[in-house]
Amino acid sequence: MFVLSSDNAMSCNDALAVSDKVYAMMGVERGHSLPSYTSIGSYTIVYLTAHDETVCGKCATRYDDDSDPITFASTYDEGDSLYCAVCEGEIESSYGPLENEEG
Ligand SMILES: [Zn+2]
Repeated sequence: MFVLSSDNAMSCNDALAVSDKVYAMMGVERGHSLPSYTSIGSYTIVYLTAHDETVCGKCATRYDDDSDPITFASTYDEGDSLYCAVCEGEIESSYGPLENEEG
């Protein structure tokens, strides 16, 4: 008799819209909300898809486009605001835009 373990049940769908790696990086279990900010320091977190689209934490939590899965998450420390590819909401960097006020 063939018994599916829960691991096998997961791996029969390897086109996950949010990769296990991202959940592991965030220390979040699948099914729980992905954070928009780090718990320490409140640094901005952005989620990146296989096609380099940027997704905010809120949309990453309910992201379901497995043709362009979220494969990476990172803090976004400095620079101009990004825009979420899903909701088009602004994602501000932790320290704001790079200032260029020399001279
Ligand atoms: Zn969004």
